[in-house]
Parts: sequence; structure tokens; C-alpha cells
Amino acid sequence: MLNPITHRWILHNEMQTLDWGRRFADFVEPAMVVSLYGDLGAGKTTLTRGVLEGLGYSGRVKSPTYPILETYSLARLYFYHFDFYRICDKNELEDSGFRENFGGLGVCFVEWPEKAQDWLPSVDIKININILDNQRELIVTALSKKGVLCLEKWQKLGW
Ligand code: ADP
Ligand code: MG
Repeated sequence: MLNPITHRWILHNEMQTLDWGRRFADFVEPAMVVSLYGDLGAGKTTLTRGVLEGLGYSGRVKSPTYPILETYSLARLYFYHFDFYRICDKNELEDSGFRENFGGLGVCFVEWPEKAQDWLPSVDIKININILDNQRELIVTALSKKGVLCLEKWQKLGW
């Protein structure tokens, strides 16, 4: 039986969102799927940028709204940043490189996972970003054994 972990953070500004991502990067593992929920402007891309920086990437992080997928080859792993905001039907999803890259060794961060509905493979960690006036509420839930182990490790080290 999975012992679920949910944890909540309040992030007061963009720097804190980036910093959260940078710290989370240490616990990201190959083949992990992370889904990012939140309205437009919530901070899904900002958080992903923080993770990429934490993984050693120093270039520009584009929002992958067009195209739907940006890939990064990093020292420790391959990183796939999906944004399904513009997905309207299954054909568009198939064209996005989604099948080829999910289930491999790369780590996948997915914005607008709700657009992929039940075509999304199992998610390890779900991140909800809620807009609270000038700050953000982050609710992070581990949904798989791998996700639980990841958050447990971070928790032990005193997130
Ligand atoms: P999304 O990808 O969810 O559409 P973006 O990351 O593109 O959102 O944009 C998020 C916006 O919110 C940016 O303008 C960023 O400066 C701002 N932002 C990010 N984190 C915070 C925070 N913790 N508090 C307030 N504003 C934030
Ligand atoms: Mg975005």
C-alpha cells in the first residue's frame, strides 16, 4: 500500500518559485513524470526553469507552448518539458513527441496535463500551483512509490 505524501509551501515571489525548483532538482530522477497544474501565469514554467537551473542548465528556458515539447540533454539526465495547453485532440498529442519520450529514461515535466486526459502515463508527482494575490500556494503530492521515495528523501534532508 502506498503511503501518500502531500506537502504545502507558500512561495512569496518569483525568486522563491525558482529556488524551490532548484532545490527539487536534486531529487528528480530519470523516468520520473511530474505533472504541473495551475492557471495561466501560475508559475508552471517558472518552476520548471528553476528545476532546469538546478540540473545545471544555464540557457534560456522557453515556454514550450509552441512547439509542445522542449528537450534538454543535461549532465545527469534527459529532460522533457511538455506543455499541452494547445492540445485539442489526440492526433495533436501523438504529433508532439509524447509517445516517444514518455516511458523512457528522461524526466518529464508536463504543463496542462489535464489536456492529455487519460493518455498520460502514470504520474509520480503532482504539483498544484494556486494563485493567491501576489504569492503562490504549492501543493505537492506523490502518486507513486517512486514519487513517495523522492519526497521522503527530500523531507528527511529538511526541505
Ligand atoms: P505558467 O507557466 O503557469 O503559465 P509562468 O511561469 O509563465 O506561468 O508565469 C508565472 C508568472 O507569475 C510570472 O510572471 C512570474 O514572475 C510570476 N510568479 C512566479 N512565482 C511567483 C510567486 N511565488 N509569487 C508571485 N508571482 C510569481
Ligand atoms: Mg507555462
